[in-house]
Amino acid sequence: MTSRACLSIFSFPLLVVLSAILHTLPAPAQAAVQPKLSVHWEELTASDFRDGIRRSQGTCLLPFGILEKHGPHLPLGTDLLDVRYAALHAAEQEYAVVFPEYYFGQIAEARHEPGTIAYSRNLQLALLQETTDEMARNGCKKVLIVNGHGGNEHLLPFFAQSQLDKPHDYVVYVFDERSPHSGGPAKKTTIDMHAGESETSKMLISRPDTVHLDRAANESGADQKRQKLPEGVYTGIWWYTRFPNHYSGDGSAATKELGEYQMKWWIDSVAKAIAAIKADDVSLKLQNEFYEKATHPLDTQP
Ligand SMILES: [Zn+2]
Repeated sequence: MTSRACLSIFSFPLLVVLSAILHTLPAPAQAAVQPKLSVHWEELTASDFRDGIRRSQGTCLLPFGILEKHGPHLPLGTDLLDVRYAALHAAEQEYAVVFPEYYFGQIAEARHEPGTIAYSRNLQLALLQETTDEMARNGCKKVLIVNGHGGNEHLLPFFAQSQLDKPHDYVVYVFDERSPHSGGPAKKTTIDMHAGESETSKMLISRPDTVHLDRAANESGADQKRQKLPEGVYTGIWWYTRFPNHYSGDGSAATKELGEYQMKWWIDSVAKAIAAIKADDVSLKLQNEFYEKATHPLDTQP
């Protein structure tokens, strides 16, 4: 059969019928799969960024770390390295756009240690506000701050609360848990607040190449209990009175098993938070209602 004869089989009417049949068939499975998009803000092209914001339903993550001493054995950027590992893996599970490295938080209590970068109070708040404002201007109407640093525990709720001082067209959410309260491999230590068993274990998962376990016992991470004040009385120097070496716990107790358990818990918890935030259609609506009422409080009825 010549190629001419072959062509003649696919006469015009037959082609029309074939094409009509093909159009009624369900699209092949791979056509429904969305193209892979990076979760890293800085790796997206401008047009992919637009797609990323659409795919994430305007949900963006701001993993928040710090530069501070972490005992004698962990790197200065531990909090940032851990939180980005958790946030990036969570965003892979539940798509969200993740802002680049951010470490401009509260760390006044470690200014006596080498390598600490402690920005002033006003700058911390101003920079965080401008960062979330700029994220929102680019479509991130739901900004989830994933906190990796214990020293931010008061800063972040204050920042979120202060979003009520004037109207914003986006919502700030804060997720501030790093370890589960129970479950997993039994822990060997009781004091475990900074560069201790849990944090060191997580670093064995996120960046094992930066962990110097052999140095973990070179300094004491014991609670020195030097301040005698009733419970409920707060001072800024409390941390230094208890842990002057900027080390709380014993990193030498760390294991990969504990790190795996805790990191998986962290990733899953952030992924769940992202899903819930995407589904949240209440916060922005009530926030707007609140801003409107706040312009004329005398009219507000119970
Ligand atoms: Zn830390």
